[in-house]
Amino acid sequence: MDILVILFLVAGTAVAFLFGLFSISSLIERKLRAVFVSALLFVVFTGIWFGGFLVIHPGHYALAGAVLLIAVLALLFFLPVGKTKTQRIDAATERVDERDVIFARAGYRPGTDRYDAYYRMRPEKQEIDDKIRGLAELLSSGGQYYDPARSEYVASLFRLEEQLVTLVDGPVDSNKREVDPEEMSTVLKGMALHLGAAEVGVARLNPFWVYSHVGRGPEPWGAEIKNDHPYVIAFSVEMDYAHVEQAPRIGISEETALQYLHAQRISIVLAHYIRSLGHHARAHVSGSNYQTMLPPVAYDAGLGELGRFGYIISPRFGARIRLGAVTTKIPLVPDEPIQFGVQNFCEKCKKCAQNCPPGAIPTGSKTMVRGVEKWQLDIEKCYHYWRVIGTDCGLCMKVCPFSHPDNLIHNILRVGIKSSSFARSVSLLGDDLFYGKRAGIREIQA
Ligand code: SF4
Ligand code: SF4
Repeated sequence: MDILVILFLVAGTAVAFLFGLFSISSLIERKLRAVFVSALLFVVFTGIWFGGFLVIHPGHYALAGAVLLIAVLALLFFLPVGKTKTQRIDAATERVDERDVIFARAGYRPGTDRYDAYYRMRPEKQEIDDKIRGLAELLSSGGQYYDPARSEYVASLFRLEEQLVTLVDGPVDSNKREVDPEEMSTVLKGMALHLGAAEVGVARLNPFWVYSHVGRGPEPWGAEIKNDHPYVIAFSVEMDYAHVEQAPRIGISEETALQYLHAQRISIVLAHYIRSLGHHARAHVSGSNYQTMLPPVAYDAGLGELGRFGYIISPRFGARIRLGAVTTKIPLVPDEPIQFGVQNFCEKCKKCAQNCPPGAIPTGSKTMVRGVEKWQLDIEKCYHYWRVIGTDCGLCMKVCPFSHPDNLIHNILRVGIKSSSFARSVSLLGDDLFYGKRAGIREIQA
């Protein structure tokens, strides 16, 4: 058989295989629109490509042109095309005060000393905070998506987490063991994975990521936070795809609460183990004062890049993760931040911003925030919406094209997105075509 004919049949089979694989993967993911579109493309493509071959018997020039077209598209998709932007977050100039974090502010009750002290310090926040406080509590019966059984289940998970915060720190064994930093890094990463982490990395702890003052948890409110740990072990836990797909309804909150509990368990055990070796370590968990911001710490540890919505995007799980961290004095070897095309992709995409019901995610360019150039989430608009619906929303996580499952077909696309601007444009068009532009949630007014 002519070599050109063989190449023609192989190229056609490869493309048809990809459409078929996409269709099967989509069926497993229960994305019916994607099943239908990819199955249709499979039928149309195989009909034209192989049907045309059998009926028309194309000449050498036509066969060569078709093979060349597929080869050029494949090269454009997988080879570095265009400049991949890097993210720099190491120029921070100011620490954040945990008292300003929206979850701390939501807990200030009128008539208390804390309320008076905070709004003397930040009078400009009082009006919006009072408005938010006037709404139903998260997970309570006034929320749009309140579910008597499931909301209470989530609330009980969070209450349990509150009770575990006393375990974040503890006595350090007096027998301080000498350790090899490289070996210890490997051991601790292995333990984190064994405990259930999806990804783990180590970074030098940038002092600007440590909050300046306590805003939540059992430690004295307003106390200066003094964390002189030089290293941080950061890790992610994967959020279940099917639960994230339920966003913004209560299913996402079930998964959020559960994964926070898992992250809490992993970080408390790791910190406990390190202290048993005679080195200081503190877990940073939901419900305590975190002491350190987790997204920039995770970025430094090489877990992902910061996306338009302000959260970390993992190369394997996209935004479908929750983070945990342990800061420590035990000697470790830091990892490096990673870049895989998120900045370029977010510039084109904006899907999270277009789907955010209260418009909390910017659609424009990055701005300078405390010395770091980034897209700045309007956390007040976001949290206000949470209180209206009674869950932690998560629509941005759900619609983000990086959040698709960690499987063969999506990973093939991720390889292209990493370095090719052509692949990013095609993937974004494909995401709209296969999954739709909108998540179908109308804005809900307070
Ligand atoms: S969680 Fe919801 S409200 Fe908040 S930024 Fe994401 S989409 Fe917007
Ligand atoms: S939805 Fe799009 S713009 Fe938003 S974080 Fe994900 S990739 Fe970036």
